Amino acid sequence: MLDQSAIEALRDAPVSPGQHLIDGAQRPASDDGVMEVISPLNGTVLTTIPRGTKADAEAACAAARRSFDAGVWAGLAPGARKAVMLKWAALIEENALELAVLGVRDNGTEIGMALKAEPMSAAGTIRYYAEALDKIYGEIAPTAPDVLALVHKEPAGVVGAIVPWNFPLMIGAWKLGPALAAGCSVVLKPAETASLSLLKMCALGVEAGLPAGVLNVVTGEGAVVGQAIAESMDVDVLVFTGSGPVGRRLLQASAASNMKRVYLELGGKSPNVVFADAPDLAEAAKVSAAGIFRNSGQVCVAGSRLLVERGVHDEFVDLLAQATAKMKVGDPLDPATNAGAVNSERQLMQNLRFVEEARELGREIRLGGQRILEETGGYFMAPTIVTGVEPGDRLAQQEVFGPVLAVIPFDTEAEALEIANGTEFGLASAVWTGSLSRAHRMVRGLRAGVVHVNTYGGADNTVPLGGVKQSGNGHDKSLHAFEKYLDLKTAWIKL
Ligand code: NAD
Repeated sequence: MLDQSAIEALRDAPVSPGQHLIDGAQRPASDDGVMEVISPLNGTVLTTIPRGTKADAEAACAAARRSFDAGVWAGLAPGARKAVMLKWAALIEENALELAVLGVRDNGTEIGMALKAEPMSAAGTIRYYAEALDKIYGEIAPTAPDVLALVHKEPAGVVGAIVPWNFPLMIGAWKLGPALAAGCSVVLKPAETASLSLLKMCALGVEAGLPAGVLNVVTGEGAVVGQAIAESMDVDVLVFTGSGPVGRRLLQASAASNMKRVYLELGGKSPNVVFADAPDLAEAAKVSAAGIFRNSGQVCVAGSRLLVERGVHDEFVDLLAQATAKMKVGDPLDPATNAGAVNSERQLMQNLRFVEEARELGREIRLGGQRILEETGGYFMAPTIVTGVEPGDRLAQQEVFGPVLAVIPFDTEAEALEIANGTEFGLASAVWTGSLSRAHRMVRGLRAGVVHVNTYGGADNTVPLGGVKQSGNGHDKSLHAFEKYLDLKTAWIKL
């Protein structure tokens, strides 16, 4: 249960300017440049963060390289690394509310979701990988008897991690947890509009005992700081969560520098497919509404395309509109809120342009479609349902990353599958049906990293998250995440 008075005490608390974390010390930008942090709750300046320079990014990469090569972390006994990471997880939990409120004031996510999905989830992830790190074994290969071939698993080196603004702590921990558990050193680049809570969480890592240079954080513009990390000759592995166009640039930067391995978790246009034989249409509507509108649709796996079998289309859209109308949109620091603010004015304007374009094409704006609560100075948007969308519309093909749902009718299972697979993305999906056979056929047929059946959005540290097609490669979460941060080395010994 959220303590409203504790939240209120933090709502307007002054926020110190952020600082980079480089080589164990907090630092301003090398040229003292700063960026204003605008709160999406009211459009006012919350504080500043360093506008990192290329030199800052290079200093962080060099510090990570030195710490890795010196073995100050990778060279510790697994039990010692585990103890530091467990302490870090405990510190995150101790500071959970403060971290969550700071993050909400920075990025606009509703506090109920933020507390669970941000510090608590991040602590859980750090702990999960801390617990796993001393359970990783090498192999002895089944070679001929005159040879002993050992397969070692070694930390991959320096990891550059670039993360987005929608869930900075959770996604940050998806990278930091397995990378640090594997023994790597890291340079982390938070998003411009969600750096504060991540800076604080990483400072807690240093407090827990991460040696200097093992975890570095550089804030600033993606095109400067992110690009410099991507081009760094000191970085061995680059992990990224964000948009497709930036992902493409990172691949180019890798090719143009040291061919570092690049793992991308990108966007989605995830199809949520409702068949007429779904066991409970009202429940499906309620879960589907939450599946697109929580965090104002700023969720990579949001079910942003709703495909409904024509026979139940009108009934289902009615149920969906009713369920959506019950959602409370507004003050993200009110625990009763179901959808908080849009992250930035730029993002809000982009969302509204998608709706305007659909309107011009003659699609029906069944619910919402407009900015709301403008008097607060914040960036809020009504949950928006657009019906009669054609599969080829921009709204059906491109990621909005906002509270806008495209509804598309279909007649047959084959048609549903064709529309569902008919985008460049392949991140999440869902199917609602009472038929076990159909559910399995759809699970096989949908080209996506995850298929939910008769639910939406379930997830856990124990299962991998990743996309296919242009939603990315590689996986966060689960033991599979280690594959990105561990190299295999063979020792071939003649007996
Ligand atoms: P973005 O791509 O604009 O930015 C992500 C990060 O990349 C930020 O830290 C940014 O500063 C940095 N960046 C920007 N330009 C760069 C450049 N030229 N070189 C290096 N770094 C650069 O994405 P966003 O708007 O922050 O986040 C939204 C996107 O993230 C959406 O597409 C969403 O689907 C995706 N996302 C995916 C997942 C997933 O797990 N697949 C999870 C959350 C968000």
